[in-house]
Amino acid sequence: MGIRQLPSQLINQIAAGEVIERPASVVKELAENSLDAGADRIDIAIERGGSRRIKITDNGGGIVREELELALTRHATSKIQSLDDLEQVASLGFRGEAMPSIASVSRMSLVSRAADQPSAWALRIDGGEVVASEPAAHPVGTTVEVNDLFYNTPARRKFLKTENTEFRHIDDLVRRLALVRPHVDFRLSHNGKAVRHYPPADNEARSLRRLAAALGQAFVEQSVAVEQEGAGLRLSGRVGLPTFSRSQGDAQHFFVNGRMVKDRLVAHAVRQAYADVLYHGRHPVFVLELTLDPQRVDVNVHPAKHEVRFRDSGLVHSFIFQSLHGVLGSLRPGQDDVPPALAYAGGSTSTASPAPPSQLRAPLSVSEPAADWSGLYRTTAAGAAKVAMELAPAAADPAEAPPLGYALAQLHGVYILAQNSAGLVLVDMHAAHERITYERLKTSAADNAVRSQPLLVPLTLRVSEPEAELAATRPEVFSELGFEVDRTGPEEIKIRQVPSILIKADPEALIRDVLSDLAGVGHSSRLREARNEVLSTMACHGSVRANRRLEISEMNALLRDMERTERSGQCNHGRPTWTQLDMKSLDRLFLRGR
Ligand code: ADP
Ligand code: MG
Repeated sequence: MGIRQLPSQLINQIAAGEVIERPASVVKELAENSLDAGADRIDIAIERGGSRRIKITDNGGGIVREELELALTRHATSKIQSLDDLEQVASLGFRGEAMPSIASVSRMSLVSRAADQPSAWALRIDGGEVVASEPAAHPVGTTVEVNDLFYNTPARRKFLKTENTEFRHIDDLVRRLALVRPHVDFRLSHNGKAVRHYPPADNEARSLRRLAAALGQAFVEQSVAVEQEGAGLRLSGRVGLPTFSRSQGDAQHFFVNGRMVKDRLVAHAVRQAYADVLYHGRHPVFVLELTLDPQRVDVNVHPAKHEVRFRDSGLVHSFIFQSLHGVLGSLRPGQDDVPPALAYAGGSTSTASPAPPSQLRAPLSVSEPAADWSGLYRTTAAGAAKVAMELAPAAADPAEAPPLGYALAQLHGVYILAQNSAGLVLVDMHAAHERITYERLKTSAADNAVRSQPLLVPLTLRVSEPEAELAATRPEVFSELGFEVDRTGPEEIKIRQVPSILIKADPEALIRDVLSDLAGVGHSSRLREARNEVLSTMACHGSVRANRRLEISEMNALLRDMERTERSGQCNHGRPTWTQLDMKSLDRLFLRGR
C-alpha cells in the first residue's frame, strides 16, 4: 500500500480518539468552550448517560453566522494566532480540535447568536457533514446538542459503560467545573430530571454552601483554608484534616490557572506534606488551585489537556509542599482555623505558642535508638506540670482556660477528661503523647548534626548512567540526612556512610528508591521518611501506655504540651488525639432546652 493522505473525516475521528474518550469528555470540551466564551450560566442536559444526548446551553458571546462552519473545522480557533499567544494562553481551549472531533463521531446541532446579531443561526452536522444550515431562535449565546455519540464508530461505542456510570463521570466533571468557576451558575439534569444546581458563589456564605454542595458538608467542617503566596505563585483552596482521609484518592481536585489537571509532581508534593499525619494507604481530600503567570506553565502537553508542565518544577514542588506542610503543622488545639467540630469555640485566646522552650525537649542521642524512653514524659514534663498546677484549675475563670482546658479525670486508664470553656474535652492519652514525643524526636534529630557511621566495607551499587549522574550532581539529597554516596564509575556508585539511626535499614534499596524518585519527579523524601519511621516507632514505645495512672498535674502538662506541639491533632498513625463535646452537643444528648 502506498502512502496516501487520510480523508479529513477520518483525521477528525482519529483526533476524537484522543480527546473524546466518553460522554464526560464531550461535556468537558463543550463547557470549557462556554467558559472561554465568557458565559456565567451553563445548562447541561443529559439523556441516557450522554450516549443518547448531551445538550449544553450557555449565555456567552456566541459565534457569528459566518464563522459557524469554521468552528467545526480542524485547527480553527479564535483563541490563539501565534506561537507567542500559545506560550501565554489563558483560555481553556486553544487547539481547535474539540468541535470537529465531536462532530465527526455524533449527530450534532450547533445554534448560536453573537452579541451584536439580530438573530441566531443553526447548523446540523451528521458524522462531520453539514446537512442543514438555517435561521433559528436563540438568545445571545450558544447551544450545542450532541446526539448518538459514537454511532458511527461502533468499536468506541462498545466501550461505554452503563448509563449510570457514564452519568457519574459527567456529574464528577461538573462538580470540578463548579469548584474552579465559583461565579458561574451550573445546572445539570439527567433524563429530564434536575440533578444539580450550583448557584453562583458571590459571597463567603454562598462559597461555603457551594463547596458543601460539591464535596459534602463534612468536608467543609473537616477541612482548613489554604491561602499562600510567594515567588509569583499562589495556592488557595481547602485541604481536609488528616483524620478526614479516604481509602482512595478520588476526592482530590487540583487546578492550575483554572484548568483541572492531574499532575505527578503536584501529587507527590501533596503526599509528602501529609506523609507524617496520614495512615498508610489513606488519601487526603483537597481542592486547591495554583495560580501563576501563564508563561511559567506549558499547557500544550496533552491532547485532552489533563496535564501541564511547569517551567520551574522544583520551585512549584517545594512551594506546594511548604505551604501544605505549614498548614498541616499548625493544626493544633486552639488554632483558629480548626473546624468547629474539633475546635475550641471560645474566642480569641487561640494564639498558638511558638516552638516549645528548649528545656522541654528530651535530651536525645540519635545514635542510640535502643535507649529507654519510658521515663521521658515524667522527667521532661515536670516543669510544665508545675506551671499547670499554678494556674489552679478550680479558681481559674473558665473563659480564660487554655484551649484544651484543665484535666478533670482519667477514664479507664485510656482517656483524659478535661473541661474548657466550650465544654468537655476528651483526649486519647497514648495517641497524644506519641505525637508529642515524635515531634520532639524529630526536632532533636534535626538539631543535632545528623550522626553518621562509615560502613566498614562501602556498598557498591550498579545503577544506570543517568542515576549515577544524579548521585554525583545532587549530593545534598543524601548528605542532609547523613548519607555519603559517591559516583565511582559511569554506572557505579558507592555508599560510604549511613546515618546511625538507619543502620538497620536496607541502605541499598533506600538509595535505589531515592535515585528513581529523583529521576522521576526530581525530588525524594524517602530518606526523611525512613528516618521518621524509626523515630515514630521509638515515640510509640516511649509514650505513656494505656492503663497507666496519671496525676492531674501530669494530665494538665500533657494538655499544655499538645497545645504547643505541631500536628498534635493526630497521632503518628493519623488517628485523632482529641475531640471536643461542646455544651450544645451535651445538651442535645440530654434533650435539654427543647
Ligand atoms: P478551541 O476551544 O480549542 O478553540 P474548539 O474546537 O473547541 O476549539 O472550538 C472552536 C471555536 O469555536 C472556538 O475557538 C470558538 O471560537 C468557537 N466556539 C466553540 N464553542 C463556543 C461557544 N460555546 N461559544 C462561543 N464560541 C464557541
Ligand atoms: Mg474548545
